Amino acid sequence: MQMCGVSSRHCECESDMGAYSRILLAVDLTEDCEGVADRATALAAQSEAELHIIHVIEPLSLAYGGDIPMDLSSVQDQIHEQAKSRLAEFSSKIGIPEQRRHLVFGRPESEIHRIANEEAVDVIVVGSHGRHGIALLLGSTANGVLHGANCDVLAVRVGDDARHD
Ligand code: AMP
Repeated sequence: MQMCGVSSRHCECESDMGAYSRILLAVDLTEDCEGVADRATALAAQSEAELHIIHVIEPLSLAYGGDIPMDLSSVQDQIHEQAKSRLAEFSSKIGIPEQRRHLVFGRPESEIHRIANEEAVDVIVVGSHGRHGIALLLGSTANGVLHGANCDVLAVRVGDDARHD
């Protein structure tokens, strides 16, 4: 541990203070998640942190209401298979090993909170906006993740605003 010039009794600026040790990157697997992943991987490298990734598949019944009069199980299976291979491809590209990949079903914000707690992460990285467009100041998932998280949340700006900087 490195110490600063303050006497050790009063020194609170240990070299790793403020660094993260476990990071959870939430991706919707759209093209915008590349920029979000860049920030998460840079943060992980800088903090020498363990980087986890999560993608949540929203059950069709949740997305479109419970009363669609047809059996959606085969469509849901296809969505699952597609998400599995896209998450594997994306995770490999940014160097996240299999045991740190989380592909789960449910409501994105609830599942992101659940995995963040289970894995005891100290920061969740999300995009400010995703599939739901940039109409809101903060996208609905980012906003939902922020409320009720037990750790820091980093919302990486994506969309037109970020591209025009
Ligand atoms: P949105 O609420 O669609 O604007 O998404 C904002 C951000 O929330 C995205 O950039 C992702 O970081 C995260 N996110 C949205 N949907 C999902 C999902 N299904 N699984 C994991 N993360 C998600």
